[in-house]
Amino acid sequence: MSENQLLEASGLVKTYRTRRGLLGRPTDIRAVDDVSLSVAPSQTLGIVGESGSGKSTTGRLLLGIEEPTEGSVRFDGNAMPRLGTAEWRALRSRMQLVFQDPLAALDRRVSIGTQIGEPLDIHAVGTERERQERVESLLSAVGLRRDQADRYPHELSGGQRQRVVIARAIATNPQLLVCDEPVSALDVSIQAQVINLLRDLQETRGIAMAFISHDLKVVRNISDRVAVMYLGRIVEEAPSEEIFRRPLHPYTQALVSSVPVPGTALRDRIILEGEPPNPAARPTGCSFHPRCSLAIARCRVEAPALVAVESGRKAACHLVASASEPEIMDS
Ligand code: SF4
Repeated sequence: MSENQLLEASGLVKTYRTRRGLLGRPTDIRAVDDVSLSVAPSQTLGIVGESGSGKSTTGRLLLGIEEPTEGSVRFDGNAMPRLGTAEWRALRSRMQLVFQDPLAALDRRVSIGTQIGEPLDIHAVGTERERQERVESLLSAVGLRRDQADRYPHELSGGQRQRVVIARAIATNPQLLVCDEPVSALDVSIQAQVINLLRDLQETRGIAMAFISHDLKVVRNISDRVAVMYLGRIVEEAPSEEIFRRPLHPYTQALVSSVPVPGTALRDRIILEGEPPNPAARPTGCSFHPRCSLAIARCRVEAPALVAVESGRKAACHLVASASEPEIMDS
C-alpha cells in the first residue's frame, strides 16, 4: 500500500453473468474493468461518468458491499475483510455509504432520531444517555433542530431527509464516506446546501470521501482529485483543478465543455456523437472510439492503457500518451 492512502483499490474487475432470453447463451459483462484508485485521508476523490460507466459498482466494491471478481481493496493498510464477516461489520463503522435516494434509505415507520442512533446501537457505542446526546449533536451538526428527532421521514423535505442520512452516516465517526449520487434527487438550490454541508463536515471531522456523480458541476465543487470513468474503466485521473482547466482525454474534454468554469473562458461545447455506453457491447480497441472525433486506425484495434502522462496525472488515450512521450534527440 502506498504511504498516506486511507483506501487503495488495485486492479478491480467486476463481472456479471447475464443471459438474453430463456435460451440465450450466458454472457459475462465487465461492469468494472481493471480499476485502480486511492483516497487519501481527509481528501475527496470524485468519480464521474455517464450511466453505465461502472462508477456505482466501483463504490460498492470500495466498501466491500460487493466482492470483486478480480483485484483487491485495502483500507487503512489492511485487506478488506470478506462481506458479512464480523471483521467486515466492525469495519463498516469506519466507512459508510450515503445513497442517492434518502426516502429509500430511511424507514418511514421509524422516527429520524431513532434512525440516526441505529449505528450507535449496532456498534454498542456509549451508554444509552450518551447515545441520546450524540443523536442531538448529530442533528445540530447537519443543520436540523433537536426537536425534529421525533419526526418521521415523510414529514421532512428532500433536503432535510438527506441531512438525516448524512447524520446517520457520520454517527460512528467514520474515516471514509462513499457518497453515491448524494444530491441528484434534490432541487439545484438544495444540492448546493448539501454539498456545503458535506464539505464542512469533511473539514471539521477530517473525513475522506469517494464522491460518485454523473454531474461534473457537482463533482468540481467538492473534489480534490477526479477520476473519469467510461465503460468500466478510468480514462483520466488528475487533480480537480487540472481536469477542469486542461482536460486531456477527449471524453473528459467533452464532459468539461458542458460545464462553465469560473475564471476561464467559455469553451466550445463538444457534443458527443452516438449512443451512451452499453457494457454488454464493448467496442474493440479503445471503448470510446465510436464516439471520438480524434480516433485513428490504431484506436479501433488497441485499447490504450491508463498511464502517467504528467506528474500526478494519468490518461488512457493513444494520442495523449504519445504527446507526453519525451522527444528522442538526434545525436
Ligand atoms: Fe479517442 Fe483514440 Fe484517444 Fe480513444 S485512444 S480517446 S479513440 S484518440
